[in-house]
Amino acid sequence: MNIKELCRRISIQHFRMYSGFKYDEEKIKEYQSELAVKSKQLLKKVEDRHLKLWLLGNVADYAQTNLFLKQIKVRAKIRHKGVSYANWKMWLPTSNEEERKEVLDAFVKKGDKLKEIIKKRFEKIKEVYYKYSEDVLGSYLFKENLSEGIFKKIAALGRKHKSKISKVWNELGVSKDYWNEYYYIGSVIYRNVNFNLEPKKYVKEIYKNMGFPFKRILVDDKDRKNKFGFAYCFWPDPPYDVRVSYKPVGGFRMFETAFHEFGHAAHAVSMDPKIPFWKRYAVQSGVAETFSELFESIATNKIYLKSIDAYDKQLQSKIDFANANFLTFYAANSLVKLKYWKGEINFDEIGSTYSSLVKRFVGISLPEDYWVFHHILSEFAIYAPSYVVAEMHMKWLSKRLTSKFGRKWWESKEAGEYIKSFMSPAYDAVFKLGISF
Ligand SMILES: [Zn+2]
Repeated sequence: MNIKELCRRISIQHFRMYSGFKYDEEKIKEYQSELAVKSKQLLKKVEDRHLKLWLLGNVADYAQTNLFLKQIKVRAKIRHKGVSYANWKMWLPTSNEEERKEVLDAFVKKGDKLKEIIKKRFEKIKEVYYKYSEDVLGSYLFKENLSEGIFKKIAALGRKHKSKISKVWNELGVSKDYWNEYYYIGSVIYRNVNFNLEPKKYVKEIYKNMGFPFKRILVDDKDRKNKFGFAYCFWPDPPYDVRVSYKPVGGFRMFETAFHEFGHAAHAVSMDPKIPFWKRYAVQSGVAETFSELFESIATNKIYLKSIDAYDKQLQSKIDFANANFLTFYAANSLVKLKYWKGEINFDEIGSTYSSLVKRFVGISLPEDYWVFHHILSEFAIYAPSYVVAEMHMKWLSKRLTSKFGRKWWESKEAGEYIKSFMSPAYDAVFKLGISF
């Protein structure tokens, strides 16, 4: 099987797994192993550094995949009084402060084994890159067309929102403590907002006005027993096979998230099929998230919300908070990754570094081992800065859209064409977007 076919099949299996359909774990492992072997073979003769880094990513991914599966299994077994890692985030909004503290403290006490696995994973990744004369941070920055200067901007963004975040804690009447931080606050922020619009109809309208082919996307908005993903977009073969799935749970968060995923889908169906497959399949997160965040920015836009009769002041202030919460969280995560992969801190200092950054940005002290339960720090090698960079790209693009096509640019076919000119080059859009550091 060639690399393209392997990638396509892996992506389809993952989509099936998330969506609660039958999938074949053995097949996934087989494909991943074959992909790593093929990537290694190609690495011997490849000249383009971008392609080299993609292939290297496949090899590194595979080298740590068993450890990652182990991490997920160990984590799933961590539980306290019926609350497990698997249902923790769903449970948070139903709990009171004392219960939250108790459960999180119990989790943190059991974090040692997880920490050991994560340490091994990171070392494995480092080893693979080293073998091919690359380093993890340098490769990441090269792919995303960034320099280390980006981290200064990210730190500045992280510091900016402290007072806004404090205000919300007061409004919600909960203490400024770790059991009420990011995940809890994110799950209750829209609680009192009465919002029940079904996103599909609205997304369809925007697609139609801007000239994106909605019909080409496979949409799964059903709930089924084993569906564990909240909302996601997969592109096994862009622009031909693009899939969006979300759980029809209602509420503003669902609405906004669906816009985000349909932004990914609009991007994928607009990619130029003449471009090499890997450049369509493996678009950098900093580019990919630009368009999802752009679509999300329509759902949170005051003018748009007014036009669909869904605006109210309370909603707006919650949207602002959610954005501050997101930026602060990702900024702290990004800076820890920078320090770790640069060698400024060692693995055992990740927890204390993260805690002190969260203290500085949000004003909350975290227990040192809490980070092993945070999804980004513990699951990904780097990844977090891409979201902040994408937000910068998105702002840059959105400013241009407003000045060229007016404040309701999402109603304009020409604006759609303009956005497509950044979507169609897939991977190479990173050289076209205005922000470079
Ligand atoms: Zn996304």
